[in-house]
Amino acid sequence: MKYTHIFFDLDHTLWDFDKNSEETMKDGFEQLKLEEFLGVDFDTFHPIYKDVNQVYWKRFREGHVSREDLRWKRMQATFLKFKKFDESLVMQLSDLYLEILPTKKHLFAHAKEVLDYCQGKNYEMHLITNGFEGIQKRKLANTNLTEYFGEMISSERAMKSKPHAEIFNMAMDLTSATADKSIMIGDHFDVDIVGAQNVGMDQVYFNPKRREHEGNATHEIACLSELFEIL
Ligand SMILES: [Mg+2]
Repeated sequence: MKYTHIFFDLDHTLWDFDKNSEETMKDGFEQLKLEEFLGVDFDTFHPIYKDVNQVYWKRFREGHVSREDLRWKRMQATFLKFKKFDESLVMQLSDLYLEILPTKKHLFAHAKEVLDYCQGKNYEMHLITNGFEGIQKRKLANTNLTEYFGEMISSERAMKSKPHAEIFNMAMDLTSATADKSIMIGDHFDVDIVGAQNVGMDQVYFNPKRREHEGNATHEIACLSELFEIL
């Protein structure tokens, strides 16, 4: 076998973040009666939140925003798009979001089958994630994924986020992996793929929406079931 170690990203790769996040925001939106406060319905609110959230995650990855600030500033910035401000509601929505999100259970199609297949072939499987440590652990537990993985190397634990080489090197150190026998599977080209390339590790770019991009990954797939051919 070409590889001994498989490093998975979690959000948007195994765990269907978009579907889970939208359900969570909808729960929070309804519980806090935000339709009344903001004067818009959820279908208007949510795309705006998604755009704002992406901007804040980028700022977080670049080190301009702390993870504590990311949590509520993305909510506040979304409210301000509708020219509304209420600190208490912002904080309540931020807290509710973090509380409810990890309880959601949508995975991408074939995620479990692929993990079973890889486990059957005795690959060592670990996670490298830019998400928050405690939240990622709850997601794994609630979707029954915990047992598949040895280590979870979060950006919180490594004190560096992907694509920085430090987090990949820490992952390899902790799991006694070598770059030439490892492969990284992730959905974010500039984070997962470029990061693995930085340390000389092969990569699978999971690109279900077939986004156009520059650069090449070792493999590119649109469905997790394509991993049966690669691994
Ligand atoms: Mg991801």
